[in-house]
Amino acid sequence: VNVDVKLGINKFYVDEGHPHIVLKTDVDMQEYRKLVLACPAGLYKLKEDGSVQFDYAGCLECGTCRILCGNTILEKWEYPRGSFGIEYRYG
Ligand code: SF4
Repeated sequence: VNVDVKLGINKFYVDEGHPHIVLKTDVDMQEYRKLVLACPAGLYKLKEDGSVQFDYAGCLECGTCRILCGNTILEKWEYPRGSFGIEYRYG
């Protein structure tokens, strides 16, 4: 089973308007490119013009981005508020 299929099994409760991850306005692009490759949910993207495109919905709350790039990229990284975020399912 590939990862996309596996990810499809999980459920996300998106806290609209309350992002739990906020990027800095002046992200370090070299660092950002690491996250394009490293985020298991593929949330860090590059637009065709090379600018950043990030969506917090679908975050697996794995913490990889926080550990890899910390304050070079992130203004804020928190777990989603209670009852929002990912609900992992197994099987
Ligand atoms: Fe991606 Fe994990 Fe960071 Fe969420 S916590 S944005 S899944 S790397």
